Amino acid sequence: MAEYANIIVDIFNEKLDKTFQYRIPEAMKEKLTLGMQVYVPFGKRNIKGYVVELTDEPEFEVAKIKEIIGIVTDSVPIESQLIALAGWMKKNYGATMNHALKTVIPIKKKSNAVEHKSVRLKLTEIEAKSELAEFERKHQKARVRLLSALIENPQMDQSMITQKLNVSGTVIRALETMGIVEVVSERSYRNPVSHLDSKGYHLTLNEEQQSVVDAIERDLDQKIAKTYLIKGVTGSGKTEVYMELIAHMLAQGKQAIVLIPEIALTFQTVMRFYNRFGDRVSIMNSRLSPGERFDQFERAKNGDVDIMIGPRSALFTPFSKLGLIIIDEEHESSYKSETLPRYHARETAIERARMCGASVVLGSATPSVESYYKAKTGEYELLELKHRVAEKPLPKVEVVDLREELKAGNRSILSVRLQELMEDRLKKGQQMMLFINRRGVAGFVSCRACGHVLKCPHCDVSLSQHVTRQHPEGKMVCHYCGYEIPMPKTCPACGSRYISGFKAGTQKIEMIVKERFPQARVLRMDMDTTRNKEGYEQILSAFANQEADILIGTQMIVKGHDFPNVTLVGVLAADLSLYVSDYHAAERTFQLLTQAAGRAGRGSEPGEVVIQTYQPDHYSVQAAKEQDYEAFYEQEMEYRRMLLYPPVWNMLVILCASKQEQTAYDSAKLLVQEIDTWQENIKAAMERVGEDFKKKRVFPVGPADPAVAKVNDIYKKVIYIKTKDYQTLVELKDRLEHYMRDNRAFKDTVV
Ligand code: ADP
Ligand code: ZN
Ligand code: ZN
Repeated sequence: MAEYANIIVDIFNEKLDKTFQYRIPEAMKEKLTLGMQVYVPFGKRNIKGYVVELTDEPEFEVAKIKEIIGIVTDSVPIESQLIALAGWMKKNYGATMNHALKTVIPIKKKSNAVEHKSVRLKLTEIEAKSELAEFERKHQKARVRLLSALIENPQMDQSMITQKLNVSGTVIRALETMGIVEVVSERSYRNPVSHLDSKGYHLTLNEEQQSVVDAIERDLDQKIAKTYLIKGVTGSGKTEVYMELIAHMLAQGKQAIVLIPEIALTFQTVMRFYNRFGDRVSIMNSRLSPGERFDQFERAKNGDVDIMIGPRSALFTPFSKLGLIIIDEEHESSYKSETLPRYHARETAIERARMCGASVVLGSATPSVESYYKAKTGEYELLELKHRVAEKPLPKVEVVDLREELKAGNRSILSVRLQELMEDRLKKGQQMMLFINRRGVAGFVSCRACGHVLKCPHCDVSLSQHVTRQHPEGKMVCHYCGYEIPMPKTCPACGSRYISGFKAGTQKIEMIVKERFPQARVLRMDMDTTRNKEGYEQILSAFANQEADILIGTQMIVKGHDFPNVTLVGVLAADLSLYVSDYHAAERTFQLLTQAAGRAGRGSEPGEVVIQTYQPDHYSVQAAKEQDYEAFYEQEMEYRRMLLYPPVWNMLVILCASKQEQTAYDSAKLLVQEIDTWQENIKAAMERVGEDFKKKRVFPVGPADPAVAKVNDIYKKVIYIKTKDYQTLVELKDRLEHYMRDNRAFKDTVV
């Protein structure tokens, strides 16, 4: 039993980001565990803190070590494992311990007895079905949605119905008046879908699915924990595989976490899990209040649920018998946190699994280059699903060269070929999706005559246009190294004057489509139409109910949705995402194109895809056309190797932010100098003992403006550090953190 406890006080205060040591009173020794919240004397006050370490080693003069006063009564004994995980995050992602702890442990907030209403079906199934037929006859879509859901699950949480089914309160009240449903209130936390008997409903796996499941279960049964990467084409039935593995874990008394990008966490997906596992499942999403999130975690800890499904943050569910973590669509960029600590859910999941002997299953149709590299080099085990279920063929993909369209005199954003196919689908009463690839294209410039794009000669990423007071006509800059040139007036490749930014957005496209096909029913999904929280699901379910022929949208529409009646997908400007000034540009493009194509032909009719582009020969477009991941990967790795980008090399990004642009720049510059000094010292030291310095060599790049260089009047500058050896990078990061803490020049800089 330990003598001392190292305690972190006030996890909200960054200034106190270190541990303080206290003596454990004799009477408390039995009870105190890692992760408990305690009261300690601090200065003149008594405050709360978390026990992050138990030890017998006094850190300073024994007589001066104060005693813990008491254990916080409603204390949350957060699993020691999660605290250790926070420590790992701090070390690897350069966050404070406070930030890391706040991320992994839910803060106790009373969910002040929120009233939860649920809606219950009052009719028998036969009666309900006859009402349903009546609503269908009258085309009362919302009532149909509600009643068919209730026939499946006779009692559902009202918020689930309004948010996920998009059925308004008015509709619920109408059905209540008709005596079809009743609304019951409960003043306690409930599962979003309650009173569900696990139906254990499941499909029989096909041979390919079964062999993937067998391979993993063989290891699980022998208590071998690994990380697997399931590379399965769109529609190959990955979710079914996940559920089978979860069922296997549950049978062994283990628990599972399933990460799904928030945008793909639709009613449809959620219900598949409920139908199989009933109320052993809990769902988390970013709309939960802190109190509700806390409740969810409490229920998980008490063992009331065994499966937690949610976005990134569900990773920290305090399951004590965690056996499996699944990360669906593992390539998604939303798994990377944009706030401190800037952790990646994939790496963090693997670390959490390592700590408790759990397994990790990553799944994607288009694995990230990083993961595939690890699978190829044996760090992960690669498993494949090469066919769509029920032998449905992959869609046929055509590439249309927009430069040729321009030459032929078609200035419309819809190519002749795409218009032809749209006409055909409208006639057949089939649905289509038009996807405009507009991710992060602010500032991108290209030649519309020849497709030429301005690139940085040092970093081989696209330059971005910046308009400033000194350069009203704009200048082109590199977001990695800071290289810049004045905005050219004509295309350096072909001399054409058609060199400009790309302006068409979803609204404009909607207009063009409506003009060209006045008879078509069109839905649009973008930031504008999904601003209120119902918008997103509402549009999806309207489209699923075939209330529209054409769905136009940004990348939001391509994520994992299953619309069986869609037989045509048009990608309007495939190469836009190629111009993002980021070394992931080609990878993102390939992923988006492949995922978009994967929306077509999921039902009984085969699908077709038209990719419109100015760069038909680019390898990411070509590989997407052939749906050839391998080909893409080989080319992409060549590029990464040549320019020393991950996964071949490691890269650390440091952001310096300040109210003064100059201060941010100076700080970044100082860091680069410090890196150089550090290198010189190491080099000298290593050469003295005859060691090869090359291995520890680092390459700082920058300072430069990041893609978003100013937010809320805070200026940001960025430097990138590339190196072969990961450990060197961690050492360097620690060193720089110390340097900044001890250097007054950084007092106004946030890093
Ligand atoms: P993915 O996640 O790989 O795109 P899903 O798991 O969503 O694929 O499956 C695609 C569709 O195929 C779903 O409608 C699912 O219900 C169906 N499906 C999956 N596995 C089977 C199976 N073994 N038999 C019949 N249908 C299946
Ligand atoms: Zn040109
Ligand atoms: Zn550059």
